[in-house]
This record gives sequence, structure tokens and C-alpha cells, in this order.
Amino acid sequence: MVLKIGVIGTGAIGQDHIRRITSTLTSGKIVAVTDVNKEQAKAIVNNLSLDAKVYDNGHELIQAEEVEAVVVTSWGPTHEEFVLASIAAGKPVFCEKPLATTAEGCKRIVDAEIAFGKPLVQVGYMRRYDKGYRALKNVIDSGKIGEALMVHCAHRNPSVPDNYTGDMAITDSFVHEIDVLRWLLNDDYVSVQVILPRNTRLAAQGLQDPHIILLETVQGIRIDVEVFVNCQYGYDIQCQVVGETGIANLPEPSSVVLRSEAKLSTEILVDWKERFIDSYDVELQEWINSTLKGKVNGPTAWDGYVAAMTSDACVEAKRTGNIIPIAMGERPEFYTKESAVVEVT
Ligand code: NAP
Repeated sequence: MVLKIGVIGTGAIGQDHIRRITSTLTSGKIVAVTDVNKEQAKAIVNNLSLDAKVYDNGHELIQAEEVEAVVVTSWGPTHEEFVLASIAAGKPVFCEKPLATTAEGCKRIVDAEIAFGKPLVQVGYMRRYDKGYRALKNVIDSGKIGEALMVHCAHRNPSVPDNYTGDMAITDSFVHEIDVLRWLLNDDYVSVQVILPRNTRLAAQGLQDPHIILLETVQGIRIDVEVFVNCQYGYDIQCQVVGETGIANLPEPSSVVLRSEAKLSTEILVDWKERFIDSYDVELQEWINSTLKGKVNGPTAWDGYVAAMTSDACVEAKRTGNIIPIAMGERPEFYTKESAVVEVT
């Protein structure tokens, strides 16, 4: 069986996903694409010799008969309308983060999906598919380190582009920790505090960097995350879980251990795309496989909503200097694993 996929947005990650579905993964076929820049969409179809139709806009693509499932990789502010339209059409949809640019927008998607009656939405939080994070989760779930008590994390980028402004350290970078840590710990957040250390001189004018973000979970686990996006030396993601009887660290990406010139060294990656490259493949392959089986197994619309709520609370905590409660409410019954079953039309 092959899943016939339409892709909305043929920018950087859209092109990556089209390439991986076409050349690396199995059981998926790109049958339709669209982009506001239609010439760019046409060029992708031609360059990759895709047997795919180029549509004038996302809504026409979603309605197209040959499109069985939708991938949304357009600009963030357009995600909500395309995900809502996919739900209305009863088509499974994989949406790159953010699910919507506001918590209210994410909630509208949650409400629409519940009203439709079947889960259709998966959000592109790919760290859950990383080999290292999965190994770390296995150790925590096995009970080898007892109950988790504390988590120490770092999210470091060598530098950021000029369009990285305002609160993007939270809304664009830290949002990955927001999603992966509640999945890792099987827990939810109750409050957040943001501490602003001395600013690096190497940040762009007006940009706060670094941040220390402190989260508390329902079970009382305390999490500290250093978000430092101009650290210069590399793209470095750290996660250490301290349990009652032991400590578990996220594995480092594999690298040759070099003995040379009186030094023992390993390389540190600099490009974020390289760090999680394999997880994008696993993420989309699992989405294709589960969609073909009529299931949604990845991060749900509810997870997208929780990420947005938590991220809003962090921004508020940063602005006020206060500890901000995170009141997301009970996870609806609809989002338990058992009910996450859809039929592919
Ligand atoms: P990008 O290179 O700017 O690509 C977005 C594309 O969508 C552009 O070609 C843009 O056209 C097009 N577009 C904008 N509005 C549209 C509409 N109404 N209909 C159809 N196409 C539209 O950005 P990107 O880096 O690929 O990021 C896309 C999304 O993926 C973002 O939400 C980003 O946060 C997310 N992302 C996630 C990860 C991850 O790690 N999970 C990594 C990268 C990106 P124009 O350029 O002409 O406006």
C-alpha cells in the first residue's frame, strides 16, 4: 500500500520532506504540491521528476481527490487554516511545528478534531524519534534509575540568523524541549520561571541570550534548561535525568575519538539539521506507516496545544520575572492512545 501525499509549502523543510519521502522512505508518494511561490513548487516537481500536480493553493490541494494525506510545511501563521481544512476534509495531516501560532489557534484545532470524531493530526516534534532520546526514555521507563527527580538540559546553537528576534529562543528553540521532556518523563508542567543571566556580547542588538528556564512538573520533578543560542562553539543538546538510584544522560552524537597532536578529541556538530537528520526520516516513515494502518501515533494536536500554552507561559515568565502557573486542563479522553485510530479514505 502506498500513501498518496500532498505537500503545502515547498521551502526548506518542505523540500527536505519531499526528498526523503521520494528517495529515502518507503510507502509514500508525493502526488501534489503547492506553494505561494508556484514557480518554486513547479521547479521541485521538475527537478525531482515527480509525478505530482502543482496546485494554486493549499485548499485546492486538500480537496484534491488523489490526495489521501496532507503534509503542512508552509510558513507557521498558515498552519492553522490548512490543518483545520484537512480535518474538515477528513484527511490525516502531518503539520510541522508550530501547530498554530497561538494557544487559542491550537485549541481550535483540538476542538475541531474532537468534533470530527477521529484523530487526524500529527505535529512535527521530531526529537521523540531520535535514537538517543528513545534510548534515554527506555532507561527511565525501565526503572533502572528509580523515579526521576531532576533534569538538567542545555540547548545551544553556535549563532542565529538576523531574523531570529524577540522571544524566538523560547518559541522556536526551547519549544522542542517543551515537547520532548514531557514525553520523556510522561508528565505535564505546572509552572515555569525564566532567569536572565548576564547577556553575551555576541548576541544581536536587543536579543537576550542566554536564558535559564525552570519548569516544575505535576510529579514535582524540577527541570532546568539553559538556552544559549550564540554559544559559538557548536550545536549542542544536553539532557541529564537524575533519578533516585542513578543518572542517565542523552547520548552524544557518534563521532570518531581522535588522538592527535597531544590531544584526545571528538567533534561537535554545528548544524542543527545534522544533529536530528535521522529522526526526521524515522518520524515521517512512522507517520506514513501508522497513517496507512489508520492510526496516529506521534505528537497529537493536544501535544501541539500544550507546547503553545507552555511556551506562552514562558514568555510571560520572562516578561514579568514571576513564576507563572501553567493551567492546560485535563487531557481529553479523545487523546488517549487507544482512541487514536483513523481510517484512511
Ligand atoms: P521556509 O523555507 O520559509 O518555507 C516555507 C514555505 O512556505 C515558503 O516557500 C513559503 O513561500 C511557503 N508559504 C508561505 N505561505 C504559504 C501558503 N499560504 N501556501 C503555501 N505555501 C506558503 O521555512 P521552513 O524553514 O521550511 O519552515 C517551515 C515550517 O517548518 C515552519 O513552521 C518551521 O517552524 C518548521 N520547521 C520545523 C523544523 C523542525 O525541526 N521540526 C525545522 C525547520 C522548520 P515564501 O517563501 O514565498 O513566503
